[in-house]
Amino acid sequence: MDIGLKGKWAVVCGASKGLGYGCAQALAQEGVNLVINARTQSTLESAAQELAHANGVTVHAVAGDVTDPAVQTQLLSAAPQVDILINNAGGPPPGDFREFEREDWIKALEQNMLAPIELIKACIDPMIERQFGRIVNITSMSVKMPVESLILSNGARAGLTGVVASLARDVAHHNVTINNLLPGKFDTDRLRGNAVKRAAAAQRTVEEELKLAAATVPARRLGVPSEFGHACAFLCSAYAGYITGQNLLIDGGAFRGVM
Ligand code: NAP
Repeated sequence: MDIGLKGKWAVVCGASKGLGYGCAQALAQEGVNLVINARTQSTLESAAQELAHANGVTVHAVAGDVTDPAVQTQLLSAAPQVDILINNAGGPPPGDFREFEREDWIKALEQNMLAPIELIKACIDPMIERQFGRIVNITSMSVKMPVESLILSNGARAGLTGVVASLARDVAHHNVTINNLLPGKFDTDRLRGNAVKRAAAAQRTVEEELKLAAATVPARRLGVPSEFGHACAFLCSAYAGYITGQNLLIDGGAFRGVM
């Protein structure tokens, strides 16, 4: 099925691995040219080579912290035009509310709220002019169901979610959509890193810890980044122009709500 994206350009942040890479890969498989970003140059360049080689698309790599305004400018100017923007970065560290200082909150806000807002601001008017734009923000299941000890994440992502709820309705009549994808438990380095800490505290192996995590999900498994990526590519497709302002959980049924 051709989803109408061949030859378009996407900027995908936080894309050297994990969910961001999953999105970049699925878009590349649909013939989308990419600008990908992450902080570590070596892994980013390997990812760019893999994506270009496997899919025959053009891939530019822009290394740097997505919260840095200079990096944001480089990212956007590396594409001839930005048809698709995928906002993503690492999540803030877990911890106790009482231990977080103002700087911790500012860092979380910069990474998970303000950087996406700046990038959206820079892309939105050219998207409106071209009457096509697709913006997807990778947030978290924690937006709907607070996750224990991820209070920095819960707070910062709620801010972005509120902004998207307004802005998506303002630009929908220009065929510009903005949606949030809310991952549950996906098998990525981030999830494994958290599992290592929990396993050490509970005197279990990491594999035991991952099995326990999977057992709490109705699908009885962790998600894989490629299936997250395909959902993202669909939201970016020509067929998804009537889906906007949504918070779509991809969590194997983990959020136990009726609606
Ligand atoms: P991951 O495997 O650790 O990958 C994160 C990617 O983002 C890497 O490419 C990383 O590369 C890059 N990155 C991190 N901070 C960045 C920054 N400030 N600027 C630019 N690039 C940055 O993480 P993931 O599991 O895919 O998670 C992606 C997002 O989804 C995170 O915000 C996470 O909190 C959220 N999430 C994940 C899950 C899950 O189950 N995996 C669940 C809920 C929410 P560098 O380190 O080289 O920069």
